[in-house]
Amino acid sequence: MCAAEHPYSTAGAGRRLPHVAMLGGTFDPVHLGHLRSAVELRMQLGLDCVHMIPAHVPPHRAAPGVSSAERLAMLRAGIGDTPGLYADDRELRREGPSYSVDTLRSLREEYGDEARLVMVVGHDAFLKLAHWQDPKALFDIAHVVVIARPDHAAPLPQALQKLIDGREVQTPEALFETPEGRLMQLALPSRLAVSATAIRRWLQQGESVRYLLPEPVLSHITRAGLYRSA
Ligand code: ATP
Repeated sequence: MCAAEHPYSTAGAGRRLPHVAMLGGTFDPVHLGHLRSAVELRMQLGLDCVHMIPAHVPPHRAAPGVSSAERLAMLRAGIGDTPGLYADDRELRREGPSYSVDTLRSLREEYGDEARLVMVVGHDAFLKLAHWQDPKALFDIAHVVVIARPDHAAPLPQALQKLIDGREVQTPEALFETPEGRLMQLALPSRLAVSATAIRRWLQQGESVRYLLPEPVLSHITRAGLYRSA
């Protein structure tokens, strides 16, 4: 995992608090929109580690056609040796719906009360946040950082507006004053209009998806015969 590079993993004076993010998703399959966002997010927020966590049983959508083990394998292939990104299998080790609130609790336990913990969501996922399991508790455990996605701008629903009222900050410094509880919206430099839905559709139609996902992920898909029409 990211531990070897963690500045705080070396005990001693001058140790800084861990700054860690969770980017959960179906990753069906992982693509450059996910991976480039994770890299730029790490850069912009000065994160030690971005835990990319495939949902074993996504609670808010139909079950993916590809198993969580296979989605994790593609994520591992996509990350390769990228510094600071970690393919985290913790949701595969839990039965039942993969609620983010439970995953955040386990990260909080691992990193401690003072660690700066961020849950990252794309704007499309953010719009549904008020309907997730225990949405208020998410902010009791972590900050929420929302990344802009091309073609996904929309006004915030009222329940979401209420949930985030008074939490929004504009800078990483303001975000990390506290371990949790704040919200920041970010437009990362490379906003890529790539979606797994489009990739699955093109693969089913026998069209090319080259340059939308890392080569090792595409090789895995081809080798395992994933996303072909029946
Ligand atoms: P699908 O098309 O199957 O819904 P997806 O491409 O949106 O999949 P997910 O695995 O559902 O991918 O996304 C995981 C997280 O990554 C979500 O928070 C989502 O908003 C975010 N995300 C997905 N694609 C991008 C992208 N191109 N840029 C920024 N964030 C993204």
